[in-house]
Amino acid sequence: MLQAINKSKAQTNTMYTVCHDRDNLWFRVTEFDILNQGITGGQYRVHLRNRTCDCGKFDALCYPCAHAIALMHSVIHALMQLQLVKISV
Ligand SMILES: [Zn+2]
Repeated sequence: MLQAINKSKAQTNTMYTVCHDRDNLWFRVTEFDILNQGITGGQYRVHLRNRTCDCGKFDALCYPCAHAIALMHSVIHALMQLQLVKISV
C-alpha cells in the first residue's frame, strides 16, 4: 500500500486543482501532460468529505488516489500561505 501511495504522490506534480464547493469539500483535479503542454483529458471530481474520486480508487481502495493527494497538497500549501500572511500582518 505504501508503494501505491508513493507512486500516486509522484504523479501529483502534473495536476492542477480547482475548488468548486468549499463547504462540501468538492474539488476538480485536472491532469496535465507536461511534455505536450496540454490537458491529458484526465479531469476528476474529488469529494474529500465523502472520500470519493471519479477514478474510483479513493473509495474502492480506502486510501487517497493521486488526485486526492494532489488536492490535499494544494490545500496544505494554501493554508501555509494564509498562515504566512497572518504572521506578516
Ligand atoms: Zn482519483
